[in-house]
Amino acid sequence: MSALFPTYARSALSFERGEGAWLFDENGERYLDFGSGVAVTALGHSHPHLVEALKAQADKVWHVSNLHRIPGQERLAERLCEASFADRVFFANSGAEANEAAIKLARRYHYANGHPERTRLIAFEGAFHGRTLATIAAGGQAKHLEGFGEPMPGFDHLPAGDIEAVKAAVTEETAGIIVEPVMGEGGVRLIDPGFLRDLRALCDDKGILLIFDEVQTGMGRTGRLFAHKWSGVSPDIMSLAKGLGGGFPLGACLATEEVGSTMTPGTHGSTFGGNPLAMAVGNAVLDVLLEDGFLERVSETALRFKQRLAAIKDEHSDIFEEVRGQGFLLGLKCTSSISNGDLVKALAAQHLLTVQAGDNVVRLLPPLIIGEAEIDAACEKIEAACETVAPAAAAASA
Ligand SMILES: *Cc1c(COP(=O)(O)O)cnc(C)c1O
Repeated sequence: MSALFPTYARSALSFERGEGAWLFDENGERYLDFGSGVAVTALGHSHPHLVEALKAQADKVWHVSNLHRIPGQERLAERLCEASFADRVFFANSGAEANEAAIKLARRYHYANGHPERTRLIAFEGAFHGRTLATIAAGGQAKHLEGFGEPMPGFDHLPAGDIEAVKAAVTEETAGIIVEPVMGEGGVRLIDPGFLRDLRALCDDKGILLIFDEVQTGMGRTGRLFAHKWSGVSPDIMSLAKGLGGGFPLGACLATEEVGSTMTPGTHGSTFGGNPLAMAVGNAVLDVLLEDGFLERVSETALRFKQRLAAIKDEHSDIFEEVRGQGFLLGLKCTSSISNGDLVKALAAQHLLTVQAGDNVVRLLPPLIIGEAEIDAACEKIEAACETVAPAAAAASA
């Protein structure tokens, strides 16, 4: 029996070290990592520039608290603002915490502007915003809320894509709208860029705030630094985490000056958020992502991968219904003849690591640094896994 909370249905695999897109178990067997620790290790494992940055900071100072200035924070905040719509940044340790900051900020902004009644956020069905009490209420999924008492009030859930429904749901108490540009956990569901533009226009019209949860989609995952850049509209508030620290726990809430400046001293805080180790790694991740041509290469490589996957889907239409997603946030939607969990296991048996998502989807989230050789290897492993599950799938659909 394990001494851990039984919160996860873990595989039996355990890894000792990693190198680029590969993980090695204790027997020296290697696995191609197309899960990236759920979209976290954006630059793969043991990236020399990240290792160097962490080691160098470890020799200087690890932690000082936010009672003092942290130069690495100021630098990373300035660079994130330079690369985005934002003027202000709050650092946290995770995606849920980044969203907590975003939710508090949306309420506080209206409070500071004489509208303390504006506390409610419109959120979308199938969303995922984290596992704290506020963020499970924001996600609104019954399976995450069950057994944890009355959900935190203040969230109204609507189907994504229906702008008329959103317009009708805005009241005097609405503070803003929170949305993931691509629903990752929800099954790699792309939100129509036109809908994001309609939300922007509605928020401007009503004087409410648009929040993009880019915890999974941000930091180059879709081929742009932030997924909303594909839509041409910017939010007022954005949460980041996952790829931001490349594997070091790091989250951030970004906002415009008008909004972010309402979080005055004492309104929010975090003991660990933005500590020097996290900042050293975060700055190092950004060094690589902002290199000339890096994101263009991600887009091109990802497009070729998606085309390869589409061909595999056509060949195995008994197993796959659709290839979804953008950049290296890709999903294989399975037919009803097979469960995504079984396919993830079959892929792991071929030494390809992937991640389940909602809507019977298998997520492919390779590190952004992968090249053609790894894509070839992954496609071969997917084909091989298809051969092993095909008889069962054929029997199920017969
Ligand atoms: C993973 C995720 C979160 C939660 O992040 P944690 O670091 O697990 O708290 C929030 N929002 C989105 C969109 C995510 O993908």
